[in-house]
Amino acid sequence: MAKRDYYEILGVPKTASKADIKKAYRQVAIQYHPDKNPDDKQAEDKFKEAAEAYEVLSNDDKRAKYDKFGHQAFDGGSGFGGGGMSMDDIFSHFGDIFGNFGFGGFGNRAGGGRGQHVNKGSNLRLTVKLTYEEILNGAEKKLKLKKYVACTTCNGTGAADSSSFQTCSTCNGHGQVTRIQNTLLGRMQTTAPCPTCGGEGKIITKKCTVCYGEGIVKGEDVVTINIPAGVSEGMQMREEGKGNAPRRGGVNGDLIIAFEEAEHQYLMREGEDLLYNLNVSFPDAVLGTSVEVPALEGDVKIKIAPGTPAGKVLRLRGKGLPSYGQYGRGDLLVKVNVHIPITLTKDERKMLEKLAESPNFTPGTKGGEKSFFDKVKDLF
Ligand SMILES: [Zn+2]
Ligand SMILES: [Zn+2]
Repeated sequence: MAKRDYYEILGVPKTASKADIKKAYRQVAIQYHPDKNPDDKQAEDKFKEAAEAYEVLSNDDKRAKYDKFGHQAFDGGSGFGGGGMSMDDIFSHFGDIFGNFGFGGFGNRAGGGRGQHVNKGSNLRLTVKLTYEEILNGAEKKLKLKKYVACTTCNGTGAADSSSFQTCSTCNGHGQVTRIQNTLLGRMQTTAPCPTCGGEGKIITKKCTVCYGEGIVKGEDVVTINIPAGVSEGMQMREEGKGNAPRRGGVNGDLIIAFEEAEHQYLMREGEDLLYNLNVSFPDAVLGTSVEVPALEGDVKIKIAPGTPAGKVLRLRGKGLPSYGQYGRGDLLVKVNVHIPITLTKDERKMLEKLAESPNFTPGTKGGEKSFFDKVKDLF
């Protein structure tokens, strides 16, 4: 299904100010708020859609990217960037926006399952360093994570044994309490996690001695993640359910992986292009030669034409990096530098002095190509 335009979702023009966007979002969010539209899947979708739009448009960086690239800037389908917020995300990010309207107190709800309290573990963040080769081909990474895991002694329940539970008397085991509130929008029924049992519906009478009733312990986990080709530094990837285990049962938090680029021995990245500084000798630049340059899939032989000037940039099409979610690859740009020797033998000096007398070796009086400096400045 094609995604709707974020501005259209919030009903604001592309020129809208931050304040206008916030105001518009609040209106849409209140209109489709789950507590005003119980068990209405369409309203829930609209509510999520608006949150996603607001998440992007309220952030200067993301808004600029969106204006430039549209939805492609964020979602190629595997959970990058803005897409796919859960109800929990929405309430924890934008809860303050509803604050004045009687929608407070949802910090703990999760999962989007209406009326059901789902306990979620915290997210785990880590950075993965990638080589250019891995960015080109995609990579499978095995990561050893230090994180909270369910306590095996009590199976994550936090109780000493199965008889150490007692049904919570405040909520009668439902885990939540319902309140009727008078708000700006009229009488509203709100549901919040039970304050006595913290939403669990039961109380532990005798705690597990290994995890002290928490249901989680510090542990390790090895996860394998598949990083798609074409990512770049600053991008993030979310692996659902691979983060920390929750206290006393529920669902795991997410694993959020940020990418960092490892420095390459010879190549430098500029967007999707790769840059390489090639040194050739003065005679080779004059006479022409063939050399090998390092590309990501191995050395590539290229021809240096006779009379190649220093600073000339050769473009090897399609030898750069791919961009996530897009076809094709950037180029490999080879900048030719002419090596000038510092020490000379007597014979060499004589030969050069002789060459210097030749009109072919005398530069013109106009100072060469004017745009040369700009070109070099842009590239390096
Ligand atoms: Zn335990
Ligand atoms: Zn309770």
